[in-house]
Amino acid sequence: MHNINDPRPQPATKTIPADVRSHIQKLERRLDSLVLVNAAMWELIRDNTNLNDENIIERMNDIDLRDGKLDGRLPKTIRPCPSCGKPMRPGIQQCQFCSSYAPLDSPFDGCL
Ligand SMILES: [Zn+2]
Repeated sequence: MHNINDPRPQPATKTIPADVRSHIQKLERRLDSLVLVNAAMWELIRDNTNLNDENIIERMNDIDLRDGKLDGRLPKTIRPCPSCGKPMRPGIQQCQFCSSYAPLDSPFDGCL
């Protein structure tokens, strides 16, 4: 029996429902596919230009640091609505407060 005053992490006792497990497996397959496509694109670029692995790692770190944190994640920029000025959620083109439309700043904004 687990003592609730014991701060050590305990093994999960609940099982993951089948529909959640299936969804996770689909996401893992999509992620694997995206990683494969990215690796192929990078190798084509590297092999047909003067760029090398050091260049892409340096650029990855530059982009990662745009939010001030080197955490291996794409920074999520929160931009103000051009109409009401309230913060818009990353990747969203319509303000949740005033319904104004604001086009994405980058093609990757829709992926966030
Ligand atoms: Zn707005």
